[in-house]
Amino acid sequence: MHEWSLAEAILASAKQVAEQEKLKEVTEVTIKVGELQQIEPPILRFALTQLKPELFKKTKFHILKAKSTLKCRVCATTWQFNLKKLDKATAEAIHFVPEASHSFIKCPKCGSPDFEIVTGRGVWLEDMKGAK
Ligand SMILES: [Zn+2]
Repeated sequence: MHEWSLAEAILASAKQVAEQEKLKEVTEVTIKVGELQQIEPPILRFALTQLKPELFKKTKFHILKAKSTLKCRVCATTWQFNLKKLDKATAEAIHFVPEASHSFIKCPKCGSPDFEIVTGRGVWLEDMKGAK
């Protein structure tokens, strides 16, 4: 059900942007979802199409996954984390419990499991197109 409240929040902020830009209709909305965020894009897309107000009647919603950037707390190395490079079971464990990532991922330079997630969480509006 998480996806439904997210869809509401996305539509609310997209509507704000549309009002600021004085758009009569919104044709495209691009949403980025952090790779470590627990979101199912198909459910989010469904929620968006069910909830969308008049302004978004013709809108195409693009939902993109954003890569994660991790930073080692020991040696300050930052690296890109690719969920696809992990085996499926590990990737799923991380997807459902982001906190579990600390038991699977280690710094490529010093091997420390102590890192922070710089990007890879959250959901944001990346782009919007519309007609005035
Ligand atoms: Zn390190």
